[in-house]
This record gives sequence, structure tokens and C-alpha cells, in this order.
Amino acid sequence: MNVDQSEIAKFSALAHRWWDPNSEFKPLHAINPLRLDWIKSFVDLNGKKVLDVGCGGGILAESIAQSGADTCGIDLSEKALKVAELHALEVGANLTYRSISAEALAEEEPEQYDVVTCMEMLEHVPNPASVVQACAKLCKPGGTLFFSTLNRSPKSYLFAIIGAEYILRLLPKGTHEYAKFIKPSELVAFTRQADLEMIGIKGMSYNPLSQVYSLGDDVDVNYMIAARK
Ligand code: SAH
Repeated sequence: MNVDQSEIAKFSALAHRWWDPNSEFKPLHAINPLRLDWIKSFVDLNGKKVLDVGCGGGILAESIAQSGADTCGIDLSEKALKVAELHALEVGANLTYRSISAEALAEEEPEQYDVVTCMEMLEHVPNPASVVQACAKLCKPGGTLFFSTLNRSPKSYLFAIIGAEYILRLLPKGTHEYAKFIKPSELVAFTRQADLEMIGIKGMSYNPLSQVYSLGDDVDVNYMIAARK
């Protein structure tokens, strides 16, 4: 299976803090409204069937469900999925969670989803191209896909590892491995190999002084890609 168990263990160990906005997951809470808005600038989520791959504790999946989509989140961390389910119960969000890989679900439910999202997950798997391929298979023809990850650039080494893990301590040391970061050209190549057409790219930046995240043209660190099948 295309999974690194040490990555799953890392996220499982932190899972109980997933919804604490001041925890290790603070950056995901901070970027969530921005990435949700970006998704909505391409598709009206209301009434759509959406799959969130590598959903973790459900920060993005839940917000997609609350936008009116029939949503399913998948992950391989049982602990994160439990936390996601509990949180959805607490806030009355209506969505389902499953412990299954994207590749296995693609065999079960090909071309079932209007929208497939896969955010901040590709840099944690051994074979990201295979996940992109599975996401493409899960998506209906004409459907839209969104991927986000960390670029492999000197700036991302400085910001995402040295800055976030060692200086600001936003993330635990060892959260990210530089060698697994993915250049936009590589991610676009994965989407092209999966017969997807790239329809948008956006950078996400963090200003450590103002502590504000924003979307823009700078894709040196964190970035998202939108693609159409
Ligand atoms: N997408 C969520 C969570 C990102 S954290 C968000 O952006 O808010 C990365 C998640 O990927 C973790 O929950 C981890 O368990 C999951 N993950 C890592 N490898 C995976 C794999 N091979 N299959 C499914 N999920 C995986």
C-alpha cells in the first residue's frame, strides 16, 4: 500500500489536539477559510458530491460539508478519523468518514465524485503520483480537483522547516521532510499523467511578523493547484 506508517503515527499521536486552534494544527485552521474560498471560486459546492483525501481531523472536509456538499473524508489514521467524527457530531455537521486509501476507494467508487480535494497530504506519502492518479479516477468526467502541498525550494526549506519547526515552533520538529516536498512542475506533471488539465495555481504565504496567511502569486512555499478532468 502507498503509505508511510511513520507518517500516520505522527498524525495519530497529535490527533487529540486537531481542533485546538492553538495546537500544531494552527496553520491548517488559519489557511482553511482561504483555501475554501479558493475552491468556491471554481465550483459551487452546494449539492455536490465531494471527497476529501487525507482529511485528518476534518478541518477542510467539515467546512466543505457545511457549504452544502455531500461529503466523505478518507484517511489512514484511525485516531484522526475518530476525532473528525466526534467533532462533526459536536457541531452537527453531516458528513461521513472512512479509513481507506485513495487507491482502494478508486477501485470501489470510480467516477463518483464531482469534486476531489487532497490538501497537505501528498508530501507525506511514498508515491504522490499514485494518489493523484487515484483522485483522478475517483472524479467524474468534467469534475474538479484540488491539490495542495509544499514546494521543494530553498525558501520552503527556510520557512516550512527552519522557520515553522525550529524558530517559530508552529509544528513539531520532523513534521516535514524536505526531500518529499513537490515542485509545482512535478505536481502538474502528475496531473497531466492522470489526464487532468490544470486550471489554476495559487500560493499560500505566511507573514511571521503579522502572523497572517494570505493567498497570492508566490508559490515558493505552500501552493494549491486546481485541475479539471
Ligand atoms: N488534509 C487535511 C489534513 C492534512 S495533515 C487538511 O489539510 O486539513 C495530513 C494527513 O494525511 C494526515 O491526517 C495523515 O494521516 C494523512 N495521510 C498521510 N499519508 C496518508 C495516506 N497514504 N493515505 C491517506 N491519508 C494519509
